[in-house]
Formats: sequence, C-alpha cells, structure tokens
Amino acid sequence: MRCWQARSRRPTRSEYTLRMSDASPITEQPLRRIDGVARSSNTFRKLQAHLRGLTGKAIADFGMIEEGDRVMVCLSGGKDSYTLLDVLMSLQRAAPVRFELLAVNLDQKQPDFPKHVLPEYLSALGVAFRIVERDTYSVVQRVIPEGRTMCSLCSRLRRGILYGIAEEEGCSKIALGHHRDDIVETLFLNMFHGSQLKAMPPKLRSDDGRHIVIRPLAYCGERDIARYARARAFPIIPCNLCGSQENLQRKHIKRMLAEWERDDPGRTERLFRSLQNVVPSHLADTRLFDFAGLARDEAAPTPGQVNSR
Ligand code: SF4
Repeated sequence: MRCWQARSRRPTRSEYTLRMSDASPITEQPLRRIDGVARSSNTFRKLQAHLRGLTGKAIADFGMIEEGDRVMVCLSGGKDSYTLLDVLMSLQRAAPVRFELLAVNLDQKQPDFPKHVLPEYLSALGVAFRIVERDTYSVVQRVIPEGRTMCSLCSRLRRGILYGIAEEEGCSKIALGHHRDDIVETLFLNMFHGSQLKAMPPKLRSDDGRHIVIRPLAYCGERDIARYARARAFPIIPCNLCGSQENLQRKHIKRMLAEWERDDPGRTERLFRSLQNVVPSHLADTRLFDFAGLARDEAAPTPGQVNSR
C-alpha cells in the first residue's frame, strides 16, 4: 500500500516546505492584516508554506495518511479545525497518495450556535461535508452540577458520536485540529495532576481498536495557526457558547507556558521535541527499562586496556 513515506528516500524538511508551498491555494479568500499589521501577501504565503510543510512532515513522520484513506476532518468552527481542513485540502493536491476528505461538524445544540455558518462556508469551499445534530448540551447540563466544568463529559460524548459517524461514513482516519501547544499543555496537565509522563499523541488507536485518530497539526504552533486563521478570515464560531468555564488547570498551564515562552523564546518547541527524544534508561519507569537487571559489563575494557590500544 502506498503511503506518505513511499518515496525513494525521506524528503528533508526544506524539501517538504518547498513541495507544499508549490501547492495552489484552495480558495481565493481576501487576505487580511495579520496581527493588526499590514503584511504583504508574501508574508502570508510564507506562513502558509510553513504550516503546510510542518503538516506534511508530521503526516509522513507518523504515517498518518495512506493511499485510499477517507479522512474525516472534525470541524468545530474554531481556528484550529478550520486551519486543519484548509491545509489538508491544499496538501491533497500535492500529496504522493490519493485520499478523500469529509468535513464533519457536530452541532451539540449549544444555545445561540450559528447553524448557518459552517454549511455556508463548506458549500462555498466545495468540500464534502456532513453536519450532525446531537443534543449533548442538555445531557451535560443535567448531569454536571452547576459551577463545575463540563468539558470532560462533553468531550467524551462528542468523541463517542464522532467515532460512530466515522464508522457510518466508512472513514479510515479521524483528523483532529490539536496542535503543538495543545500537546505540550497536555503533557504538563498529566504530570502536574495525573503523575504521568504522557501527552497527546499525533496518532492514536481508539481503545476499542476500531479507529485511528490523527493530529496532522502536531508540529504547528498555536500562534502561527491563529495568524493564519486571521489572515484567512475564517468565520470563527466562539467556543464559549455552552457557558462552560475553560478548564482552569489547562488555563494555568497555558499561562505558565506563555510566560516561559516570553522569557525564553522557543521553549515550547524544545519541550515538544523532547517528546520525540525519550531516553527510558534515564527515567525511572521499571516497565520501560530493566533497571533491576542492569549489571556491570565484565567484558568492557579497563581504562589501562583502552589507553594501550
Ligand atoms: S467548552 Fe463547552 S462545548 Fe467545549 S468541550 Fe467544554 S463544555 Fe463542551
């Protein structure tokens, strides 16, 4: 089966960036000012090529998309999922494999959810899409006591519904818009509150083994995605329609990482890269490394033997 890596050799990062920047833009939406400053379209194209390159690299590194895949792109109406769909549509034209995209939005019946926004946007885009209506909002409201965060139950319900839709639609992959900052935040959340060295993987098999979840924006920084979304003028649907407080623990970690980034630019990226460079023998998990069986290597040369060579 052909896959993204099915090339004579692995392209370098700069080759990816180049190849992906060659792909034509999928829509001709007006460019806006980025970060409130008038920018040339050249700056926008660089940002676009950067995001395409990183996404293409993540897809190749993790074998996220293979020949013949039908990828369900989960679209919430936030900047991340719009960017995900946009970049995947663009990559589809230049990719070494053929794959289909199906954009899916789950209307969870939150008050004031602007129902018309996504169908209008997706119809204009010309991508296959499906809007699914399920009233998880009432369920969560009923079950979670007032003042408590509803996100955990809400996400679990949403995940279950999305898995069901993927099954119905014959989708082999489920693509989510999580990015590098989400992954690093999750790492700290799990360390601080769960005593686990565990983040959010770029590719995951569901517990029942029936679905593969992919996060093609895993290498992309949130700041770049936000700039891209503003420049693309995506019709963003606010994420607080449900009235839930953003998870406070995540909020604290976000703030902590933002402060670190301010004092030491590039730290979040280095933290992410450390997830790709794990040394089990220098951690303390006896399930990952046989510390008990660690013994002296009797055959190792003594310093005298080494010097006399
Ligand atoms: S913010 Fe609202 S819609 Fe989003 S996960 Fe939390 S409860 Fe669900």
